[in-house]
Amino acid sequence: MPDIDASPGLVEDLVDANHILFHQGIVDAFGHVSVRNDRDPGRFLLARNMAPAQVTAADVVEYEVASGEAVAPDAPRPYLERFIHSEIYRARPDVVAVVHNHSPAVLPFGIVKGARLRPACHMCGFLGEGPPLFEIRDHAGDATDLLIRSRELGAALARTLGAARVVLMRGHGCTVVADSLRLAVYRAVYTEVNARLLLQSLPLGEVEYLTPEEADAGHTTEGQVDRPWNLWRAQARAARQA
Ligand code: MN
Repeated sequence: MPDIDASPGLVEDLVDANHILFHQGIVDAFGHVSVRNDRDPGRFLLARNMAPAQVTAADVVEYEVASGEAVAPDAPRPYLERFIHSEIYRARPDVVAVVHNHSPAVLPFGIVKGARLRPACHMCGFLGEGPPLFEIRDHAGDATDLLIRSRELGAALARTLGAARVVLMRGHGCTVVADSLRLAVYRAVYTEVNARLLLQSLPLGEVEYLTPEEADAGHTTEGQVDRPWNLWRAQARAARQA
């Protein structure tokens, strides 16, 4: 186990979150999930640079929120886009966990002009009136590799996220936040579910979205986040052992 002063179980939960997100098709070789250190809000835990499905407890590294750099000077190679996590934690004291991914059904909503990822089913009310869209060209010109490679770009992404729970990233993917690791995983999965639902529904005709009030009322579903977490964790653990 890495030498990290956090509650027992936090590192294990982060390992499970990595495996769940892979098993649910939210991350592939790319994408990452982090959690704020519950004993030091100025630090967060994130795997070293590797595919989420292969993360073990030994691969979890502690980072500083202020800099986005590892606490340990001899830490292994980090994710290039760790500044997504550090700058959102810096801007949003309420955020406890961050998922960044390129999940396939969500991407079109950050590519097609005018497309909105508005919530269409009761599990997805956290999408509110549809996530804001981060356009990297507004901050770094039209010749980037679209990656959040610096603190400055991370801060720009956090500003676009604002008080929302999801931010779409044009031509890239999305980032999802919550006040717990389980809820961040839930929202990442159901952002993809809502996107898939819209891709299936839009060709059939006019979509009836949730009203803002219906979207708000859906938060009661999030109180049951342990149910999907326990199911998905069991599935992911079984798949690891198979
Ligand atoms: Mn990315």
